[in-house]
Amino acid sequence: MAEFDVDLFVIGGGSGGVRAARIAAGHGARVMIAEEYRMGGTCVIRGCVPKKLFVIGSHVRHEIEDAAGFGWTIPSMSFDWATLIANKDKEIARLEAAYTTNVEKSGARIVKSRAVIEDKHTVRLLADDKKITAKYILIATGGAPNHGAAIPGIEHVISSNEAFHLKKLPKRIVIQGGGYIALEFAGIFAGYGSDVTVIYRGDNILRGFDEDVRAHVRSEMEKQGITILTGCTVTKVDRHGEDFTTHLSNGSSIASDQVMFAIGRHPNVANLGLENAGVAINLKNGGIAVDHFSKSSVDSIYGIGDVTHRHNLTPVAIREGHAFADTVFGKREVQVDHANIPTAVFSQPEVGTVGLTETEARAQFSHVDIYKTTFRPIKATMSGRDTRVLMKLVVDGSTDRVLGCHIVGDAAAEITQAVAIAVKMKATKADFDATIALHPTAAEELVTMRTPTARHVRQAAE
Ligand code: FAD
Ligand code: NDP
Repeated sequence: MAEFDVDLFVIGGGSGGVRAARIAAGHGARVMIAEEYRMGGTCVIRGCVPKKLFVIGSHVRHEIEDAAGFGWTIPSMSFDWATLIANKDKEIARLEAAYTTNVEKSGARIVKSRAVIEDKHTVRLLADDKKITAKYILIATGGAPNHGAAIPGIEHVISSNEAFHLKKLPKRIVIQGGGYIALEFAGIFAGYGSDVTVIYRGDNILRGFDEDVRAHVRSEMEKQGITILTGCTVTKVDRHGEDFTTHLSNGSSIASDQVMFAIGRHPNVANLGLENAGVAINLKNGGIAVDHFSKSSVDSIYGIGDVTHRHNLTPVAIREGHAFADTVFGKREVQVDHANIPTAVFSQPEVGTVGLTETEARAQFSHVDIYKTTFRPIKATMSGRDTRVLMKLVVDGSTDRVLGCHIVGDAAAEITQAVAIAVKMKATKADFDATIALHPTAAEELVTMRTPTARHVRQAAE
């Protein structure tokens, strides 16, 4: 009789857990995976996928507005929120079923239950109070929205989870936060016709992104009518029937039909039984502490994806899950390289970025050249839309290597995915220059910027 019920028990059927379960099963492991909510996890059920569908739908407004300059007359436009939600729900249900089927096809067994750790090799399923022993346990429980301080009226505030299921489109919405989710939803709601106010505590949105990107996105969003208030926070939310009054730290207040917070996410480590097995938490970020192979402080327990709070992105969770399965069950040690991960903010306009910001590069390299351009995209010349695209390359002036690429504009994410290959391959600016432009595109600017717009050379004494 086998020493354990299964070789691998995965807690969490999201991006990382599903990939790990499928690959481990493919390597011949006996795998069980527990999911307490819906297979597919955050990305599929209430993250990347429904968000992108919302972004695509809301962007249609821009297309309709831009059409007149190209000769189109569109008599009247109307939008039905209920249809959007119903069609989105249908697509998410289809994806959830596909995830379930694919896991089952791999040979892994799904259990629909919350799972908690009993000891280094045992998991308890809360649905039927059953214990399962496993040679290895993989924690892939993801993260959840932060609610912030317990301000008066916090119970009236929604997070992205609820934003996907609103009964109607709010006419006016207040969104606190200046990161990915706040800006993506600001663009979504504005596109569908809501009056949007973003409240951000710092001096400018998108902290951590390149300074030119931050300034450019803010001005483009403001041009579209989105109000961005910086240097303040929400201190209280009052409800009067269907209406809300949001009070701010600067003494002002805003009336709206909905208030949303998008102020970061925390790793799902609570009530997981980590203490029963002695799994250590990373005190710097609150996630499960892991080594380069995603192994926790306990040899039989690993952690991947958002629950480790390293880079909270779907492709990273997937890569970590795959590497774990190859390392533990595939007789092939694989470490995930977390350098130069491309990322996009699906705000409107979109941000695509890979590699170092100008500030980061100048802190690390003694000679940094900047190539930057802003220009009116060809479509705007006929549509009349007041918009500009930003493209920026950050180059190590000593080796000519391209250290970072930052784009704000239509298709920024798509362009960045391709540029990320070049950056990962350590392409030089000369390699970019040797590439013949593809005309007429916006991306051709990346291979035609000849002269640095700024050169930063650090003196030896600095
Ligand atoms: P998750 O996908 O969160 O999966 C964890 C699963 O574990 C969940 O299904 C949960 O129900 C389950 N679970 C938790 N505890 C237990 C338990 N004890 N027992 C059983 N099951 C449990 N990333 C991108 O790369 N691109 C994007 O465009 C993007 N957009 C996003 C938009 C939003 C609104 C949000 C919230 C996130 C977005 N992300 C995006 C981030 C991305 O969704 C996450 O990085 C990714 O889902 C992490 O995968 P994971 O496997 O670590 O966790
Ligand atoms: P982010 O970390 O991107 O942004 C959080 C924002 O909230 C920041 O502006 C932060 O300010 C602010 N904030 C934090 N705490 C408080 C507080 N107590 N009061 C007021 N403001 C506060 O988190 P999100 O929630 O937007 O998204 C979570 C993560 O999910 C992202 O970091 C990303 O990893 C992932 N994601 C990825 C997406 C993509 O790939 N397109 C899309 C959506 C999510 P400050 O900057 O000053 O700290």
